[in-house]
Amino acid sequence: MNAPNSSGWKPGTPEAPEGASGIETVTGNRGLMLEEPLIFEIGGSDTCGVDLPEPSRDTNRLGGLARSEPLGLPGLSEPETVRHYTRLSRQNYAIDCGIFPLGSCTMKHNPRLNEKVARMPGFADLHPLQPESTVQGALGVIDELAHWLITLTGMHSVAMSPKAGAHGELCGILCIRAALEARGDARSVILVPESAHGTNPATAAFAGYAVENIPATAEGRVDLPALKARLGPDVAALMITNPNTCGLFEREMKAISDAVHAAGALVYCDGANFNAIVGRVRPGDLGVDAMHINLHKTFSTPHGGGGPGSGPVVLSEALAPFAPLPFVRAVEGGFELIEEEDGVAAAPQSFGRMTAFHGQMGMFTRALAYILSHGIDGLRQVSGDAVLNANYLLRSLDDVLDAPFGGTGPCMHEALFSDEGFADGVATLDVAKALIDEGFHPMTMYFPLVVHGAMLVEPTECESKATLDQFILALRSIAERAKAGDQSLHQAPRLAPRRRLDETLAARQPVLTYEG
Ligand SMILES: *Cc1c(COP(=O)(O)O)cnc(C)c1O
Repeated sequence: MNAPNSSGWKPGTPEAPEGASGIETVTGNRGLMLEEPLIFEIGGSDTCGVDLPEPSRDTNRLGGLARSEPLGLPGLSEPETVRHYTRLSRQNYAIDCGIFPLGSCTMKHNPRLNEKVARMPGFADLHPLQPESTVQGALGVIDELAHWLITLTGMHSVAMSPKAGAHGELCGILCIRAALEARGDARSVILVPESAHGTNPATAAFAGYAVENIPATAEGRVDLPALKARLGPDVAALMITNPNTCGLFEREMKAISDAVHAAGALVYCDGANFNAIVGRVRPGDLGVDAMHINLHKTFSTPHGGGGPGSGPVVLSEALAPFAPLPFVRAVEGGFELIEEEDGVAAAPQSFGRMTAFHGQMGMFTRALAYILSHGIDGLRQVSGDAVLNANYLLRSLDDVLDAPFGGTGPCMHEALFSDEGFADGVATLDVAKALIDEGFHPMTMYFPLVVHGAMLVEPTECESKATLDQFILALRSIAERAKAGDQSLHQAPRLAPRRRLDETLAARQPVLTYEG
């Protein structure tokens, strides 16, 4: 078997990690953290991990379309393959490794109970095209989860099929568009507060609306008089996030909704931050017409590299008739799935279909397992602990980091800091990269846009005080270096497998093919 670096990649090339303390190794490995080249560099197209008999020519049914040259895919033996991917996986940071304080992302622990439930053969081995009579249990799960989501939000109904938060936003806005068109009142503008997540204006534009910003007050909340002044017969909806992305609850939400409704428009709430209020506040009581719920945030299903998202959308009575197909309906003795064929009769005003099948079934089972294992009192404690943890971080750091809205009272589930007070030449990016050297995933940075050099830290309810104290210790020391103008911060990360990358170039000109 080849040693990992025996072909292609050469130690000491610019890709190799230089030791921060000047320690370099001939292999590029650092202790037991192994440098790993690309599979194209170590594999050969003449190597294969399995022995298969040569196929007999008579079984070739490709006619003249058989490939004339080898495919050129790299091959490795089985143990080399296992090691390649295991080594790569060790260079990845995950919620199972430590705190993942990405603000707005709610990177919380994925309970193993959820995983066990999702892997039960009765759920895991289903096919979406199986006859309805053979999947009654799965339809029952969708229906029960729907019931919980409706109850927790105080809304009228829920569209389960959207596959992520942003997909849910599109679902909600398409419901709003269909409702307005049904009353012969097509409108052209969607208002979005300036602190909104980028997906909000993107969704509105994708659905064909012009987007206009609503400014924030000095306290980081929606400016109600400015909103009222802009409302008019051309406004279709307001897209508002509550709690908002500054980590603050929009206290005037009811007045905001009333003003929007009085102008004949509808209220879309971005529910990605539901983790901060679940079990305590029902958006339906605040006048919300549509809100997506990120099951992969509030209800702990894996996300990021760990799994697909899921973004069911709860709807008010006014919007319910326009919800997408398919949906599950309880009938005498079981459940039925309403598809296009039935849709004309069962849901004549539905705006149509958004996904191939019924939604993210694996996420539904996980979310329901989470909800049932917590119960209503447990979910209430989730939001309480999430807010407590964020306030502990805020108050433990606001003497070294500027907290723009810290003076106006407690935050919700995330603590927001700015780069105010950093020495010239030191930026938020340097602080985030220095956290990597301390063994922490960086926080969300440069978002929300309303705060200069923003650092948005969301600990979630899952972290212990000991973990928070360690994180605080690391961030405090980096913040002090940033204020003192420690220029070595520009070198961070020094201990990661890769040093600082040109992320803009990587995003603008991604190199997606290997040229040997
Ligand atoms: C995560 C998030 C979204 C988008 O959700 P996805 O599931 O990533 O599509 C939208 N708004 C806010 C505030 C979010 O935090």
